[in-house]
Amino acid sequence: MLFTDLRIVKPILRALMNEGYKQPTPIQEQSIPILLKGYDLLGCAQTGTGKTAAFAIPILQHIFLDLRNQKGGRKIKALIVTPTRELAIQIADSFTAYGKFTGIRNTVIYGGVKQGQQTQALRRGIDVLVATPGRLLDLIGQGFVSLKRIEYFVLDEADHMLDMGFIHDIRKIIALLPSERQSLFFSATMPKNIITLSNSILNNPKKVTIKPEQATAERVSQAVYYVSKQNKRKLLLHLLKTETFTSTLVFSRTKYGADKIVKVLRRAMISAEAIHGNKSQGARQRALGNFKSGKTKVLVATDIAARGIDVDELSHVINYDLPNVSETYVHRIGRTGRASASGIALSFCDVEEKPYLRDIQKLIDQRIPVITDHPFIDNTPEQEVQKSSKNVKNRGKKPYKKKKRFFSKKRR
Ligand code: AMP
Repeated sequence: MLFTDLRIVKPILRALMNEGYKQPTPIQEQSIPILLKGYDLLGCAQTGTGKTAAFAIPILQHIFLDLRNQKGGRKIKALIVTPTRELAIQIADSFTAYGKFTGIRNTVIYGGVKQGQQTQALRRGIDVLVATPGRLLDLIGQGFVSLKRIEYFVLDEADHMLDMGFIHDIRKIIALLPSERQSLFFSATMPKNIITLSNSILNNPKKVTIKPEQATAERVSQAVYYVSKQNKRKLLLHLLKTETFTSTLVFSRTKYGADKIVKVLRRAMISAEAIHGNKSQGARQRALGNFKSGKTKVLVATDIAARGIDVDELSHVINYDLPNVSETYVHRIGRTGRASASGIALSFCDVEEKPYLRDIQKLIDQRIPVITDHPFIDNTPEQEVQKSSKNVKNRGKKPYKKKKRFFSKKRR
């Protein structure tokens, strides 16, 4: 199927060609016709599937066709609410790209920065608003935003919204929307609380499900290195120096770990920056910009900070630590091999992480090939670690003794 088969208006088709898009991704192929007909949509899909264009194209098209009959000044007609600043910026960039020849204006608002530029853009008048929940409510409270004329509402990454504690904000936002509207609801997972929330937003929706795990895992070449915790940094340097890693995203479980990896890389004269929650918004955007422009070769990120990182030319993802939640692994490796490009994801697995590796392989229904041809291979049998961690656990079962020691230390 081609975009030209989807009844998309010429100015948007032209913009898609400009972006180099030829064929719609599965979620676009399924969702665009439903949304152009005006139905509500419940989409089970995650970032990396082409979901942004799946909702942005029909919204732009509806507004474009309505604009011809519009009288008076611009009113916000579409609202997209998303959990993180990075995602919000990317969605707004997508609206700008796909709407380039439509005359439709958008802006993005998010917290953690001064509001001046955002309120100025709102005053100039916009058709599409992309927002994170806190700043949106804040600017509504101050009278800069009115949701009275919203016709299209998108709640993006609903599961992450709830994980991040945004449920009350979302309820407040929904209460302010006109009841007559088209609503779209996206979530990578659909547990019960998400279904309940979607029911409170959607009206008789059509459902679209894109199974990301399988698709991502098939698209991305994966491999795992067995290596001890101590040798991970040596292996990372070895790979970055010997292989053709043009732009590499390294995942670290902790912020502290991310900073440490950056230090090690810089000492070895490899340009690297970290992006995590302790960094200011400005520092995060700068790091991302340097990485995208190729100034920095390696970006080290934690999972939350990496949400929504969208770099087209990412050559490698390295899991310096394996995540204990298998779905996170799929999210991580999905950062490379975006929208049908192929990518490479390498994982470092120490002996304590082997159970995580097993869970991941179960989820993606694949065995990840093990690379044994490297100088830091670690063959410690898992049982040994299990035995020693059992001993640690037993020792921990004597809280009384521990407490006593604590008091005596404190009194000294
Ligand atoms: P998303 O899931 O919306 O974050 O999109 C993931 C990436 O795929 C982004 O870099 C988009 O620019 C790209 N993309 C979206 N749709 C297409 C398409 N039909 N063809 C090629 N690339 C696409």
